[in-house]
Amino acid sequence: MRQSLPPSTAFIAWPSLRSGTLGLIVCVCAALIGTEGWELWRVHETNIEQTAIVTANTARSLAEQAETTLQTADTIVASLVERVEAEGTAPEARMRLYHLMTSLAAALPAIHEMGIVDSNGNAVVKSLVANPVGLKYGEREYFHFHATHTDRGPLIGQRIKSKIDGSSNITVTRRVDNPDGSFGGLVVASVSMTFFQHLFDQIQAKSGGIIGLFGDDGIILARSPPAPKQGTDAAYASDDLWQKMREHTADGSVAYLAALDGIWRHGSYQHLVRYPLTTLVAQSDWDLQATWRAQLRSHAIILACVMVVVVVLGRRSVKATRMLAAQALQDGLTGLANRRSFDETIEREVRRAARSHQPLSLIMIDIDHFKAYNDCYGHPAGDECLRAVARAIHGCLRRAGEFAARYGGEEIAVLLPGYDASHTYALAETMRLAVRALALRQASHLGGVVTFSAGVATYRAGPAAGGSRFLIREADTALYAAKAAGRDAVKAEPFDLQIVAGIGAVETLVA
Ligand code: GH3
Ligand code: MG
Ligand code: MG
Repeated sequence: MRQSLPPSTAFIAWPSLRSGTLGLIVCVCAALIGTEGWELWRVHETNIEQTAIVTANTARSLAEQAETTLQTADTIVASLVERVEAEGTAPEARMRLYHLMTSLAAALPAIHEMGIVDSNGNAVVKSLVANPVGLKYGEREYFHFHATHTDRGPLIGQRIKSKIDGSSNITVTRRVDNPDGSFGGLVVASVSMTFFQHLFDQIQAKSGGIIGLFGDDGIILARSPPAPKQGTDAAYASDDLWQKMREHTADGSVAYLAALDGIWRHGSYQHLVRYPLTTLVAQSDWDLQATWRAQLRSHAIILACVMVVVVVLGRRSVKATRMLAAQALQDGLTGLANRRSFDETIEREVRRAARSHQPLSLIMIDIDHFKAYNDCYGHPAGDECLRAVARAIHGCLRRAGEFAARYGGEEIAVLLPGYDASHTYALAETMRLAVRALALRQASHLGGVVTFSAGVATYRAGPAAGGSRFLIREADTALYAAKAAGRDAVKAEPFDLQIVAGIGAVETLVA
């Protein structure tokens, strides 16, 4: 059966219910996303904080180790200078110095070699070469420095390649003075950068991270993993990181985009206290956040599932609530709107008609001798008859806003916004004939088929207009008149008499 959905359900409750539920779903989803986002952001920040602590500790301990190594090298150099100045470099003294230097170098793996160079730049004693004839160091920067400076303090040189085995080292040198104070040569100890490279390699486990030792001019002295391109060491001097390291003093934590390999890193650096060197320990941002990304993925999946459940449940609840709302306003037997819906609708339509000055008509229908029908065919058959009559009446409605409701028992009310009396009367007649055409047998009735009687009333806006109750009472009066006149009839005033009755009154259309 076609059902007459109450307008209140179709046009008022549904959109507000839908937008309310939609708002609730959006709020729940936003709260879930917000909470998860905040939690994940905190994990992300905590990762960075912990990385700063770990890398700072590592950078500090590596700086201490580098400092100790350089200090040891300098102590050896200072004591060798003292000995050379005291004992000279005669052949016997050279032999003693050679043995002393080789045993020291063997005991200290961070020291690559030691050497004594005379004032002409010729190697006199070398720990790696028993007889260093022909080895010249006059072109070295440290030689030039000591030859031209009387300063007896240590000089930390730049990274150089060993003339003996090609290894990479930095030098610690001191000047040797002749007894008259003139330049007598120098003592050099080279600190092995390969040693630091291996040390860093052992610590450096994660890919993407780096450990490095830098000169204060930005040159990489040792790095794990090794710099991707040889000869690009100086690139660090122009690097973002380098600028940041220079801005701070002793130590600090930095996030930077490495110029050498284009990787974002978080790390810490530590300047050595006595020497112009800096250690750097950093992890790649990508590796650092690997666990966090996995967490993000799993949380996103869980969140998406929860949101799907929320949306599905929300939609179901909207549907269920909508159905309940519809059922609350619908008559269970006939499928027409129920009395409650009728009461709400007529109030609303009367207010609308009063505002718009449009007529509003009401047809009150009551099935004839229905008690006798029940008595004759039984209550279930009576119910079926009632359904068939309701269907026939509802089938006569055509326009939007036309509204049929079960008023009570076997009475049906039809509200017709915008209908004047003559059109309402015509429609009621159509309905009466439609019910007759059903040819539902009723032996106790005069015509032998089920019929109804109807009364019609029209509301017109104006100062004398009554409310909905008045309209119902007038339609009822017309209905009783139809019953009194023998039933199977519609009662209404002739059309022109309504006009004479004037606008602003409810017109009783009783013949
Ligand atoms: P009248 O022509 O004067 O209207 O006579 P009537 O017998 O129809 O009188 P009335 O309207 O007073 O009787 C209504 C009867 O309708 C009484 C009741 O048995 C029957 N009825 C009311 N509701 C239902 C229903 O839901 N199902 C069935 N089967 N009968 C109903
Ligand atoms: Mg009745
Ligand atoms: Mg009746």
